[in-house]
Amino acid sequence: MKTNVLGYPRIGAKRELKKVSERYWKGAATKTELVEMGKQLKLSNWRLMQQAGIDLIPSNDFSFYDQVLDATLTYGCIPARYQKIKEKESKLDLYFAMARGLQNNEFDVTAMEMTKWFDTNYHYLVPEFTANQKFELFSLKPINEFKEALAHNITTKPVVLSPVTYLLLGKEKEEGFNKIDLLDDLLPVFYKLIEGLVDAGATHIQIDEPCLALDITDKDREAIKKLYKELASKFSSLKIILTSYFDCYGDNLETVLQLPVHALHLDLVRCSLQLDDVLDAANFKNDKILSLGLIDGRNIWKTNFEDTIATVKKVESKIGIDKVWLATSCSLLHSPYDLDLEQNEETLPASVKQWLAFAKQKVDELVTIKKLVTGDTSKEVAAKLLNNNRAHSTKKESSVIHNAAVKARVSLLTANDSERNAEFLTRQKIQKDQLKLPAYPTTTIGSFPQTKEVRSWRSKLKKKELSLDAYNELIKQEIEETIRFQEKIGLDVLVHGECERNDMVEYFGEKLEGFAISSFGWVQSYGSRAVKPPILFGDVSRPSAITVKWSAYAQSLSSKFVKGMLTGPITILQWSFVRNDQARSTTCKQIALAIRDEVVDLEQAGIQVIQVDEPAIREGLPLRKEYWSTYLNWAVESFKIATSGVADKTQIHTHMCYSEFNDIIEHITSLDADVITIETSRSKMDLLNVFVDFKYPNEIGPGVYDIHSPRVPTLLEIEELLVKASKLLPTDNIWVNPDCGLKTRDWPETKAALENLVAAAKTMRSKLEKAY
Ligand code: GLN
Ligand code: ZN
Repeated sequence: MKTNVLGYPRIGAKRELKKVSERYWKGAATKTELVEMGKQLKLSNWRLMQQAGIDLIPSNDFSFYDQVLDATLTYGCIPARYQKIKEKESKLDLYFAMARGLQNNEFDVTAMEMTKWFDTNYHYLVPEFTANQKFELFSLKPINEFKEALAHNITTKPVVLSPVTYLLLGKEKEEGFNKIDLLDDLLPVFYKLIEGLVDAGATHIQIDEPCLALDITDKDREAIKKLYKELASKFSSLKIILTSYFDCYGDNLETVLQLPVHALHLDLVRCSLQLDDVLDAANFKNDKILSLGLIDGRNIWKTNFEDTIATVKKVESKIGIDKVWLATSCSLLHSPYDLDLEQNEETLPASVKQWLAFAKQKVDELVTIKKLVTGDTSKEVAAKLLNNNRAHSTKKESSVIHNAAVKARVSLLTANDSERNAEFLTRQKIQKDQLKLPAYPTTTIGSFPQTKEVRSWRSKLKKKELSLDAYNELIKQEIEETIRFQEKIGLDVLVHGECERNDMVEYFGEKLEGFAISSFGWVQSYGSRAVKPPILFGDVSRPSAITVKWSAYAQSLSSKFVKGMLTGPITILQWSFVRNDQARSTTCKQIALAIRDEVVDLEQAGIQVIQVDEPAIREGLPLRKEYWSTYLNWAVESFKIATSGVADKTQIHTHMCYSEFNDIIEHITSLDADVITIETSRSKMDLLNVFVDFKYPNEIGPGVYDIHSPRVPTLLEIEELLVKASKLLPTDNIWVNPDCGLKTRDWPETKAALENLVAAAKTMRSKLEKAY
């Protein structure tokens, strides 16, 4: 029985890679420094796994930016716009130009597009294909990394992205061809790569084929059959580990079981039922090793040893111990590094920590379970089992997890709790009377620039260099300035600016019961960016009001309406590490009730406009369409629970970004928010079409400028977008706002952009007056 790790985090336990990469991009670190840091990180991962006793240690799982971009370089699929850079610059600089764009005296090219890696919060750079796409073995990274480990006497298992999944994850940049037809041109390059790995001494290769967790076509399946058949005939002694994760093989299982591979990996965390499907399948010939992905690569909970051992034993009894491997469910890329670094009792108490395992601890779990299964009787291993049992039994009764009142409240929810009193048209009338806003009302999405100064107050407060009173005083001043600023430039509905929040999810995680906050629980999101999701371990409740004090203070400063600003339940769920001992739908409803209380308290405090942000609603969608409606139903219900506790006169806003709404417009509509603000400027309002086609009934604020760039939009540009929107939507329903929050921007460009936004809205109003 072997232990198999599918991949390891690579940003460094204290985000060392981030720091050196960002310095390199600024010209403050040399290429050697960067490359050396990469070497150190790889070696320390390999050593850690070797010393722990892992049998199949991954290589080529490291990346300076993104593993799909690495494959793009390996397969030599460099888009034409980088040709000149390819000729003149090093491979590494070409790579970063593709990842981040490049603008200097000599070059001006945009970055490749970025999108989510399946249903994770990791983003990859989307390969681009043309009809006559050429491929070549351009970067030898997989081979070099294998040799790099070998030089330290560590024989690794190279991880390569299958050419089929690679093609399916990419984008056709011109019409008239199907990307999967490029496979015949890509395969020779891929075989050359495999040959290079074999020549270097690789005996096992992990081929990642996660498209098998998606709905794919027969044609795609044929491509997969061809690939593995050819591989088997070309490299007869090579041990191929076919690896998919994040969901079941589903209707691809029959195909998969026929493939001539050495081992088949199963993600049994995301899809435990498929184990029986495989064992019982008519065409399961017991000719493959099963790599049982039982250690959760995407979450931070300790593995239950007893349960895992039982599963392994069951498989063992059917197919024999030497046909069974024990593995992580997917790459540990999605786990934070090391629980041992967590020493802050205040934010992550020992009572919670005892239930957790980060990447390093998961490696130890794998080895320990192997020892337990293979009859290790040492005291040390027995003690680990005892500990694990103890942790899991305390979990069942722990009073920090279980809150009877919260559970009761969720079970008593009725349909009434997720409906506003009156229907939208009635509410709209009441709200128009109450709010008396002009046509084309202007507002922003919530946050205003978070300057270095503002961030320094928070870190000083954390380090106790600033008292809470002094900190609050500074926040008050910042809010007042933000309010005065908005009044001065003439916005209609103001916000307090969110300067007291580090992050829109962590902030609520810090204040709600049932959450813990790690200090170093970083997970790569894209490139040098990492996120630190809060740890949602128990029943969620709100011990006291969270935002009311600041919103009410902001409102007290102005005669204009100030919008209350909350993060919605789905987004809080989606961007946290969520407990795995109850259904996500139940957890989401618990959060929804906590947010509902906050919404009601804001209303009580005199806030008449309240925004509940749900930017993550789309990314919660399951990978396979058949499960979409179940998810969407509880997601919509949760949002409505959160927002339906208020009177009709209170206007509920929601905000979403980075979203294609085509598939889910019906559900977006059923959220029944009075106003939705969305990102539309980059697509020049194209994203609005789906709202128009669906005759979206409620009010809508299509973003009129892209806040991701410091560029200031001209008055004319904004006006043009508004003219476009006014042709598509009833004037009564249109709001004017930027695409998203302004947190990452600076004040000067924010001022200039918002002045133009207000002026454009005024121009639109005057046109209306003339028309009457
Ligand atoms: N209210 C949040 C902000 O303005 C919304 C952020 C988001 O959509 N991601 O920062
Ligand atoms: Zn946004």
